Amino acid sequence: MPELPEAEVVRRQLQHVLTGAVIERLWIGRTDIVRRGLASRAWFARARIVGVQRHGKSIAVVCERGAETRVALVELGMTGLLLFAPEAVPSARHVHLVMHIAGGPPLRYWNARRFGGVYFLDREAWRAYCRRRFGPDPLTMTEEAFTTLVASGRGRVKPLLMQQRRIAGIGNIYANESLFRAGIHPHAVGRRLSRRRIRGLFDALRRVLKEAIRLGGSSIRNFTAPDGRAGRFQTRHRVYGKAGARCPNGCRATLRRLADDRASFVCPACQTR
Ligand SMILES: [Zn+2]
Repeated sequence: MPELPEAEVVRRQLQHVLTGAVIERLWIGRTDIVRRGLASRAWFARARIVGVQRHGKSIAVVCERGAETRVALVELGMTGLLLFAPEAVPSARHVHLVMHIAGGPPLRYWNARRFGGVYFLDREAWRAYCRRRFGPDPLTMTEEAFTTLVASGRGRVKPLLMQQRRIAGIGNIYANESLFRAGIHPHAVGRRLSRRRIRGLFDALRRVLKEAIRLGGSSIRNFTAPDGRAGRFQTRHRVYGKAGARCPNGCRATLRRLADDRASFVCPACQTR
């Protein structure tokens, strides 16, 4: 599913193509894909797009009309895509919303599953939504804030990294990859980790996320960028989906999928609690 790097790749392309453009109209195929604000959809026709922001794994298209600001906030969910390239649309029947742009390519929201959705929010509702849902972004939060967060964790560190309200944007792939690079077991308990190891995790996490953004994200399942291009970071995955392979650190151990936590992949030698 799209995580922070994939959402950031989407955001950058949308920002580049849409900033300054005027929305001609919105086509909504199935109204239940709009989770909030359906009645305000007419407002967006003739609104000007002033920028595109990312909150965790979510994308906010920021629009202005007169003195008013509203956003079309898109949750990509498990399989959601935002696409300009018509040839990249996997199947027309799962295109649920199309934003028609004056003098530009239409933006399609495609989603094969019901997870995800679109929220039409005014400025206040947008702020409240973000406050409720998203913790700090790992690319902009301080090392000190991250250390405090992890060091106060009473539970396992991996689920903590994936709690969007505590820190936004990390899912299973990037949690596995950064824990491996930091040499920390997914079941390690946050408050038992030394400050030094937590700082190492912060470095690993940021390095992984930045490299993934640079390579266009991970194209696991169906992910492509709005221009239709697939990401390449899946070729740099070291543990995710690699059970049975030799540890890439050269320690001679075999990578394992944890029996009681099937989403977690580890090197039993390199990753400790
Ligand atoms: Zn190893």
